[in-house]
Amino acid sequence: MSRTEAPPLPEPLRVPVADAHTHLDMQDGTVEEALARAAAVNVTTVIQVGCDVKGSHWAAETAAAHASVYAAVALHPNEAPRIVHGDQGGASGGDRSRPGGREGGGAAALHEALAEIDALAALDHVRAVGETGLDYFRTGPEGMAAQEESFRAHIEIAKRHGKALVIHDREAHADVLRILADAGAPERTVFHCYSGDADMARVCADAGYFMSFAGNMTFKNAQPLRDALAVAPRELVLVETDAPFLTPAPYRGRPNAPYLIPVTLRAMAAVQGVDEDTMASAIADNTARAFDY
Ligand SMILES: [Zn+2]
Ligand SMILES: [Zn+2]
Repeated sequence: MSRTEAPPLPEPLRVPVADAHTHLDMQDGTVEEALARAAAVNVTTVIQVGCDVKGSHWAAETAAAHASVYAAVALHPNEAPRIVHGDQGGASGGDRSRPGGREGGGAAALHEALAEIDALAALDHVRAVGETGLDYFRTGPEGMAAQEESFRAHIEIAKRHGKALVIHDREAHADVLRILADAGAPERTVFHCYSGDADMARVCADAGYFMSFAGNMTFKNAQPLRDALAVAPRELVLVETDAPFLTPAPYRGRPNAPYLIPVTLRAMAAVQGVDEDTMASAIADNTARAFDY
């Protein structure tokens, strides 16, 4: 068994659920293979998330071609500053970066990219605008203004089209919550890869925000995440892979994919103190409500 080998298929769920956040375009193998493996363990729906203009087009096309896929479209919080500053990608985005960034940059380039996201958000199989938000881990203070401008524009696009908003919040909890409250959050707002503590979970619950938990909630050092999940109302909880990232224990470090959802879901059921089927049924209902399918 090598560290880079794909983990084995887990035991199938009895209740079909969705992977609320994945990046099929960054995973090995074909889309069809990924969907088939997921369906084999009863992960029957995936939300494919775009991180830049190209990836958002790809997400929309993939959703159009597969009944089990819905798309989310956006400029990732680490992408917005790159567009404004005219970078060719790779400087600050790590694994999120792609070649072929636009040339020139500036506010006009950001507006042009946002117009493309706005057009994609109108499509029927595009059910969410995201991932957007703030990332203070990968982007430093020089990128904050561009991130906030982009975040606010995505909030407007989501509201204009009546789509869910998918939030990427990395080490920026207070500012994300402040901007959402200030701009007025869309009716359906999802914190992807929820990373707040129990206090923040109560704030999200009061606001009616969905909290989507990823494989990192299984990590040994993630007790604050499990404490947050323990107090999160079951009707606001989702599960996601964020694959190929955040592979759940005991497969940490190996490639992640939607078929590993059952591993995380079972850990979530234990934290919430319910059986697997109860957890899966709640998550299935919640995801359909969040993304309006
Ligand atoms: Zn993210
Ligand atoms: Zn993501």
